[in-house]
Amino acid sequence: MSHHLNAPQREAVRYLDGPLLVLAGAGSGKTRVITQKIAYLIEECKIAPSHIAAITFTNKAAKEMAERVGKLIKGPTEGLTVSTFHALGAKILRQEARHLHLKPSFSILDASDTAQLFQEMLKDADKARVRMIQNRISLWKNALVGPEEAAQVAADDLEAGAARVYAEYERTLRAYQAVDFDDLIRLPVNLFAERDDVGGRWRSRLWHLLVDECQDTNRCQYRLMQLLTGPRAAFTAVGDDDQSIYAWRGADIENLKALRDDYPNLKVIKLEQNYRSVQRVLKAANALIAHNPKLFEKKLWSEHGHGEMIRVTACRDGEHEAEWVIARLQAHKFENRTKFSDYAILYRGNFQAKAFEQQLRAHKIPYVLSGGQSFFDRSEIKDLTSYLRLLANQDDDPAFIRAVTTPKRGIGGTTLEALGQAAGRRHQSLFAAAFAPGVENEVKAAQLAAVREFCQFINRMEWRAQKEPAGQVLEDLLRAIGYEAWLFEAHDPREAETKWGNVRDFVQWLSVKGAEENKNLVELSQTVALISMLDKNEGEQDAVQLATLHAAKGLEFPHVFLVGIEEGVLPHRESVELGKVEEERRLMYVGITRAQRSLNVTYCERRKQGREIVTREPSRFIVEMGEDIQRSGQGEAPAVTKDEGRAKLAAFRALLAKT
Ligand code: ATP
Ligand code: MG
Repeated sequence: MSHHLNAPQREAVRYLDGPLLVLAGAGSGKTRVITQKIAYLIEECKIAPSHIAAITFTNKAAKEMAERVGKLIKGPTEGLTVSTFHALGAKILRQEARHLHLKPSFSILDASDTAQLFQEMLKDADKARVRMIQNRISLWKNALVGPEEAAQVAADDLEAGAARVYAEYERTLRAYQAVDFDDLIRLPVNLFAERDDVGGRWRSRLWHLLVDECQDTNRCQYRLMQLLTGPRAAFTAVGDDDQSIYAWRGADIENLKALRDDYPNLKVIKLEQNYRSVQRVLKAANALIAHNPKLFEKKLWSEHGHGEMIRVTACRDGEHEAEWVIARLQAHKFENRTKFSDYAILYRGNFQAKAFEQQLRAHKIPYVLSGGQSFFDRSEIKDLTSYLRLLANQDDDPAFIRAVTTPKRGIGGTTLEALGQAAGRRHQSLFAAAFAPGVENEVKAAQLAAVREFCQFINRMEWRAQKEPAGQVLEDLLRAIGYEAWLFEAHDPREAETKWGNVRDFVQWLSVKGAEENKNLVELSQTVALISMLDKNEGEQDAVQLATLHAAKGLEFPHVFLVGIEEGVLPHRESVELGKVEEERRLMYVGITRAQRSLNVTYCERRKQGREIVTREPSRFIVEMGEDIQRSGQGEAPAVTKDEGRAKLAAFRALLAKT
């Protein structure tokens, strides 16, 4: 295997004397070092897979890494952990739940569940304020600041208010036997810090920890890494400070520096050869990032050829941009006999995807969208997962409310309010309150009967879910609640058709996953919650990739279109106002360095904004990419491409005729 590694990569793979940081630019083989090191530990060092854990940034990356490792080594990899920090946290919480007064079948609330919770707690506040408070609390959680401490450190009235909400929010979560995404990391960290024996058990189990994309870890994740590895510090972290793009979610580049301070014996290995991109792409990326102050000195070079010219194209407006990109893509595909899956269209914000989706559909070009509204966020899937969650944890009130009212079964707002008050007085969940002594006096008899019938149904299903395959139980559950019929009553036929198709896909997916990984419904419901957080699994197919720059991290594509590269979009207007242009520049750097062979950059001269048409300026980042760029102006571009396409077609036919 070692012949696929250069000297510093090999050194990184074999280094086991202490903590190791591989610090290197994009495409230099950091992720490859991790996969190869896992194989090395298992095959050469004979370490059992169950003693090794690797952390990736997304579930998709985890899946890809597990597959690669599977191909690299001959023996079994059973017991190997390859997951996100959040999934690892969930695993720890499941096993240590009793120390935290949680049941192992706790619920994981996703972003929209928690947003709703906050809206309920802050009845009169507008959306912006709710979001601000929610963000504040999330940042506190990620900085390991609890509600009491938050109250002490609150800098102004807004923060003091947020600290009070924080305390109430925590009580509510615990009452629901639920945790949010931040808790998945924070609770294990607190537990390990308080109970050395519990942390010790995990440390003795884990012989080596590998962390990819460590520039985007937040304080809390960093702490978890420390607590999991202890004083022995057997870890390999890889990262690139120039690709830190999650500060808005609490990620902290300082963690890279902290590693040096916290581990005086930290070995640092730098990789300088880029294996991904042609030289033009690399040169543009280097030139751009040179405009940021350097944290660590890095050089990148490549043995690949110069590659095609980087093209920057000015388009009239958003529509024209989408037309141009799709026309160029088709012509390029034809010329180079590539596949659709060789192309990626990357953008700053999800709102930009629509125009491209329309064009792709109009030309019947298959595409996959990632980083957008996830499959798991669709209302029909959330309906179903609320049932799953309820089967796992009857105290999950948000799931209870959604399930009991979908489909409608004569239980409405008034009933739920009365039940909610009864539950509040008794400090119980809605489910438990329905059977509490004396509740007959608080909720009307007919309605209470309906609620109880629902609860008994859930009980019966839960009982079955413990023994029978997940897929079968779900099928029966859907039939029993008449979900398909309800979908067709409540929506127009085409919409209902799509939704029902999604439900079928979901049930199918759960059945397979349940069987493959031998998971029961409880574990599956937690798996689903985690997947919905960052990404979904896409099938492998020949399709153009549409993704946000954030979702494209760590990936590579032969041909990349970076679209909407305008002032106000990238760099984003808010970031410019807040003086956070450096992070936006890193985002552009991530975008450029996804390209292996060719790069196209586009921007619009005008764009629709609501009802207005506003003029736009090309992003400052375009100039910062240097001189070795071919610019084409507005208007001429599509015509040129078509003619070019036709000329190429003619040439190609002539060539065919000759041979
Ligand atoms: P990023 O910073 O974008 O995450 P990275 O540093 O993780 O990039 P990889 O994705 O590991 O880089 O590698 C980039 C590409 O180079 C991959 O296609 C990988 O297979 C290839 N590669 C890495 N090292 C070598 C090598 N020694 N020989 C040949 N190809 C290599
Ligand atoms: Mg990588």
